[in-house]
Amino acid sequence: MNRRKVTFKLYPNARETERLTGWIRLHCELYNAALEERIDAYRKHGKSISYYDQQNVLPEVKAARPEYVELGSHALQQTLRKLDLAFQAFFRRVKAGQTPGFPRFKASKRFAGFCYPDPAGWKLMQSGTRGATLRVGSGKDSMSIRARGKHRFGDAARPNDLTITRKNGEWFASVTLRVSEDAVARVRTGDGHRGIDLGLNDWATFDNGETIANPRFMRTNLPRLADLQRRQSRKKKGSCRYKRLGRRIARLHERIGHVRLDFIHKQTSRLVASCAVIATEELVISNMSRSAKGTQNEPGRMVKQKAGLNREILSAGLSMAHQMLAYKAVEAGTRLHLSNTRQLKPSQRCSSCWELVPKTLEQRVHECPHCGLRMRRDQNSASVVLIDAHAPGTGVAARQKPRSRQRAKSKSTTRETAAKAFEDAQQSGSS
Ligand SMILES: [Zn+2]
Repeated sequence: MNRRKVTFKLYPNARETERLTGWIRLHCELYNAALEERIDAYRKHGKSISYYDQQNVLPEVKAARPEYVELGSHALQQTLRKLDLAFQAFFRRVKAGQTPGFPRFKASKRFAGFCYPDPAGWKLMQSGTRGATLRVGSGKDSMSIRARGKHRFGDAARPNDLTITRKNGEWFASVTLRVSEDAVARVRTGDGHRGIDLGLNDWATFDNGETIANPRFMRTNLPRLADLQRRQSRKKKGSCRYKRLGRRIARLHERIGHVRLDFIHKQTSRLVASCAVIATEELVISNMSRSAKGTQNEPGRMVKQKAGLNREILSAGLSMAHQMLAYKAVEAGTRLHLSNTRQLKPSQRCSSCWELVPKTLEQRVHECPHCGLRMRRDQNSASVVLIDAHAPGTGVAARQKPRSRQRAKSKSTTRETAAKAFEDAQQSGSS
């Protein structure tokens, strides 16, 4: 059994929107009341209240406030659990000596949503010819909300839990499904071997020189987003104009995010469907999540460039693309090879003679002084990772579980073994 999460956009009508908004308000009220109870108990009696203490008084809450009944007891428990998680995270941070950040009271306007932890109290239906329908609530008081699209896992998929969220005035339903092995399998139509360099100028460059450009919407709107943010920074904080720009920025951010997500989904699906082997660089998260500014003792270099908006969005997109490639490759039976960036240095290595040719980020062309190869930088590194994929032992194979700390001692990558393995692989591929 596999788990797959699918998110639907919901289209509630005016009456349903009002009711969902009311439910969020009630969940938020419960959250805040539970938080207050914990704070009071500690201040007045020096005693801490656990999740179970709070869960056990839920029946009393429902008796006193009948409007809570239709929300479902498991959904209410889930909101209390959410608060408990916030406290656990707080104590963990205190223990680790980080900035603690005490759990906060939330405005219902900013309360993201609520969750049904099991299949009770709701149902996802997608039997008709149109998109799916989500039924929440029970009996004659239930409502059937229209949703966009359908998931591809068919009727055998068993729903596990549901989260309903509200973001910038739009509603979404995330459903976790338990799906059989057969149902997740993807059709593969090709047996290509491809090296890919994911980047910023072009979204992807392949070893054969083909490129996939970033979608036009993102290209044109990233500068616009920066412009809006600049304009907002000149307004007085908290003023009407500041807020108005804030809403516009949030909408544009969201739209760019949606376009990007859609784009990455389509490209990664197409890639795994057409390839038997995909090679790319391993993602080094620590480099990207580290603050560009550094610390006071160790100030970062190129702060301006690194902190740029592009970098931020690029890194988000990169890890998204990697995650999708990983699970889709498993579904399609494609081998995903992730080269060890530090060891291999694909952008610095010559794909023809395997020598290291140092270059700065600005140098977009690889010119090898050793063998005379002249190639675009990204195409060269895509070729290098593809060679690495065919030379066993030089890279880090794709894996689903986080890798252990002990890794095999790095082997030196020599041109002879790498090239020979590549030729072997090509011969075996063509025969
Ligand atoms: Zn060379």
